[in-house]
Amino acid sequence: MNRIDEDNPKGDTQRPRLLLHICCAPCSGHVTGELAKEYDLLLYFYNPNIHPPREYNKRRDEARRWAEEEGFCFVEEAPAVEEWFDKTRGLEGAPERGARCEVCFESRLSRAAEKASVMGIPYFGTVLSVSPHKDAAVINRVGERTGEGAGVDFIKADFKKKEGFKLSMKKAREAGMYRQDYCGCVYSMRPKSKVST
Ligand code: SF4
Repeated sequence: MNRIDEDNPKGDTQRPRLLLHICCAPCSGHVTGELAKEYDLLLYFYNPNIHPPREYNKRRDEARRWAEEEGFCFVEEAPAVEEWFDKTRGLEGAPERGARCEVCFESRLSRAAEKASVMGIPYFGTVLSVSPHKDAAVINRVGERTGEGAGVDFIKADFKKKEGFKLSMKKAREAGMYRQDYCGCVYSMRPKSKVST
């Protein structure tokens, strides 16, 4: 596998380069495998939505462990938690797939787009659409908008298609990954949900 990293963002090949926002290890295994066929990847973890801090640390540590085992460069951006709560204020009661989620996507993808721009990486994307609980059309709309603002191209996708979610979960089980049982924010913890990624 070819990799790019913070010290070598141009990489060593002529292949296109892509900064991929990831939210957790289980959502990343299958998607990175597919994208690595075409792109040299850098994995970017920016998720101020994940609550509480011990859960954030657990998902971050698992994602980093898996990424490094696979040979990817893993970059964590410190979560701007207060900013995330400010942005989602007034949307506490919105359901998953509703208005709060669009704001949440925007808060994460705008940082990913900025990071790609600063590093000179021409493409960026996210694994988020692999979840059956997330609307790919909204993610793609937000991705395109934030990419335009930063001058980088968003890779539109719906990774749950072609059994993408099923294959992700299979990979997660086989690799013994930690799998969370709620999306991430404090509002998605009520009521206690089924497995959600
Ligand atoms: S349910 Fe998930 S996507 Fe929606 S606001 Fe909460 S953490 Fe973000």
